[in-house]
Amino acid sequence: MTKILYMVVPCYNEELVLDETSERLKAKYEQLISNNIISPKSRVVYVNDGSKDKTWEKIQEKHNENPMFSGINLSRNRGHQNALLAGLMTVRNLADCVISMDADLQDDINAIDEMLEKFENENCDIVYGVRDNRDTDTVFKRRTAGAFYKLMQGLGSQSVPNHADFRLMSRRALDGLAQFPEQNLFLRGMVPLVGYKSDIVYYKRGERFAGESKYPLKKMISFALDGITSTSAAPMRLIFWIGLIWFLLAIVGAIYIIARHFINGSDVAGWASTMLAIIGFGGANLLALGVIGEYIGKIFLEVKQRPRYLIEDFINED
Ligand code: UDP
Ligand code: MG
Repeated sequence: MTKILYMVVPCYNEELVLDETSERLKAKYEQLISNNIISPKSRVVYVNDGSKDKTWEKIQEKHNENPMFSGINLSRNRGHQNALLAGLMTVRNLADCVISMDADLQDDINAIDEMLEKFENENCDIVYGVRDNRDTDTVFKRRTAGAFYKLMQGLGSQSVPNHADFRLMSRRALDGLAQFPEQNLFLRGMVPLVGYKSDIVYYKRGERFAGESKYPLKKMISFALDGITSTSAAPMRLIFWIGLIWFLLAIVGAIYIIARHFINGSDVAGWASTMLAIIGFGGANLLALGVIGEYIGKIFLEVKQRPRYLIEDFINED
């Protein structure tokens, strides 16, 4: 029996790319169906993440033209990771495997064949799409991303280097992911924690087909900080060690100053070192508070247990 493949494609203001993306996915699906690799019940599910343009109208149009296209409309913009999770969780009982992909055609559609091959013949539950070069990204994005993945690994996070959210997951793996109730989503750090047999497929990352990146620098930085603080407690521990060493040094310094006072008598010199200590400790305190604040903020969000997304419509022909 051929497998039912669902693809989940989050879309935020993507009206400019949806025609082309749909064309290419349609050609790919037709090829896979005629080669008996996937079932004709396979679908492409666009998740409209509260777009301000005509993205949802476009998705409905695609659905009316061809039942291959389905749509999920979120009640408002919830961000890429929430939109992706909404899609994955909505379709996980309908599909044998689900591939998530960006709408802008930066992920290579032809890598899908190899992903399915590993799912079907090598019994992989998770197949990660990994870009083997970043020629098409700006030098800045390449450098910062490279440094970020190194840092993440240094901090003990499990994420796969150079893997974004282009991946295949089996139904079993999605059921595993469904048991992670956390609010601060960093899917590429969470999926490896699910486990099961996994493999990698390399692909060449292309350029955004049309429109502009929905990840400006500010969003990129906050995404990176979320990634670190939601998968690793190492920064908190690092601050503890720095604080401890600093504190021990201060005790040694205090002993030295007191001893000098009794030997030499008091002096007004030392203003500079006093100021330095105040500034140094003030800075260290603020840094430590900032790190702690980041985690407390996360705990605050977690304990509220708010829904991670609300679905307004789900159009799907079963
Ligand atoms: N996206 C989304 N909600 C958002 C921001 C982005 O669903 O709030 C989607 C977007 O439509 C795209 C994917 O997430 O399909 C990746 O975004 P983008 O291509 O702009 O990021 P980049 O490739 O520049 O990192
Ligand atoms: Mg992109």
